[in-house]
Amino acid sequence: MARAASIIRAGGLVAFPTETVYGLGANALDQAAVLRIFAAKERAAHDPLIVHIAAVEDLDAVAARLPPLTGQLAARFWPGPLTLVVPRGPAVAPAVSAGLDTVAVRMPSHAVALAVIRAAGVPIAAPSANRFMHTSATTAAHVRDDLDGRIDLILDGGPATVGVESTVLDLCSSPPRLLRPGAIPVEAIVAVIGEVAFGPPPAVDADVRAPGMLDRHYAPRAHLTYLVGESPWAAAEMRRRTGEAIARGVTVGQLLTLGSAAAPVPPPGVLVEVLGNEGDIETIAARLYAAIRSLDERGAGEVFVAQPGSAGLARAVHDRLTRAASEIVRQDGV
Ligand code: AMP
Ligand code: MG
Repeated sequence: MARAASIIRAGGLVAFPTETVYGLGANALDQAAVLRIFAAKERAAHDPLIVHIAAVEDLDAVAARLPPLTGQLAARFWPGPLTLVVPRGPAVAPAVSAGLDTVAVRMPSHAVALAVIRAAGVPIAAPSANRFMHTSATTAAHVRDDLDGRIDLILDGGPATVGVESTVLDLCSSPPRLLRPGAIPVEAIVAVIGEVAFGPPPAVDADVRAPGMLDRHYAPRAHLTYLVGESPWAAAEMRRRTGEAIARGVTVGQLLTLGSAAAPVPPPGVLVEVLGNEGDIETIAARLYAAIRSLDERGAGEVFVAQPGSAGLARAVHDRLTRAASEIVRQDGV
C-alpha cells in the first residue's frame, strides 16, 4: 500500500481492484500523470475519466460546486458504484474531463481502493484497467494481459465482485440524466430522487458528453452475436446459428445461462462458459467479462449470447452486451 501511494504521488500508474472492475489509477490533480493513463490504455483523449475519492468530504477538492441532489445521492449510494457528474473544480487536471467543464466522481466501496486513495492522499482518476475499447478487466491477470509493461504496479484483490461498471448520472442537467446504466439500478435512483432523464442530452454531441455511450466498446476479438429476445426464441437461434458456424468450420463459443430454454445442450466441440443461473443477474454480471475473455483465449471465432433481461442490473448487462457485440439480432416485435 505504501508503495502504491508513493507511485501515485510521484505521478505513476497503479492498477487496483474496485467492486465494479479493476481501475488504472493516477493522481487526478497531476496533468502529466493523467495523460499517462491515456497513453497506457491507448484511450481516446475525448473519453473522460472517473475520479475516485475516499470520503464524501473529498468532493470539495474535486467539484467546483455541488448540485442540489449530490448530498442525498452520496448519502444513499456511497461508498458504491454510482458515479456523479458535477462541475469540475480548478484543482482537477483538465485531461481528466477531456476538455469538459464537468467531472465524474465516485467513492468506491472496495477496501483496497479506499486504502490506496487514503494512503496516496489525493483523488485518483481511474478508468477501467484494460486497453481502450477492449473488454473490461475484472481480475489482476486481465490487467496484466492488457497492460503489462505499461504501468508501474498491479494490486491483486481477487476477482471484482460486481463485475460491471458504475452507473453514471449527470447532475449538471435537470432532471439528472442517466449517461451509463451500471451496477446501481436506475430504478433505485428514481426511488430516491423521483425523476431521471435517459439517453444522450439533446443538442450535445453524445460522443463527447458520454463516451461510455460509444456504440462499440468492451469488445472481444471474437465475432460476438447478441440475441435479443425471449428465451425460447434465443435458444432456437443459438442452436441454428451454432450449427451454421460449425458447418463453416468456425470455432463456436457460447455464453450460457443455466436453467433457461436458451441453454440447449451444445454440440461437441462448442466452447462453453456458464454465466450463472437464469435470473441470477448478480452472478451473470460478475462473470460476464471474465467469460468473454476466456472464450477469446480458448480460440472462439464466433460467440453467441442471449439477452439476460432488461431491468435493474440486467439493464447494465444488456447495455454492455449491446456494445461488445459485432452483430445484434432482434426477435421480431421485441
Ligand atoms: P471507464 O472508467 O473506462 O468506464 O470510463 C469512464 C466513463 O465515465 C466515460 O466513458 C463516461 O461515460 C463517463 N464520464 C466520465 N467523465 C464524464 C463527464 N465529465 N461527463 C460525462 N460522462 C463522463
Ligand atoms: Mg472502460
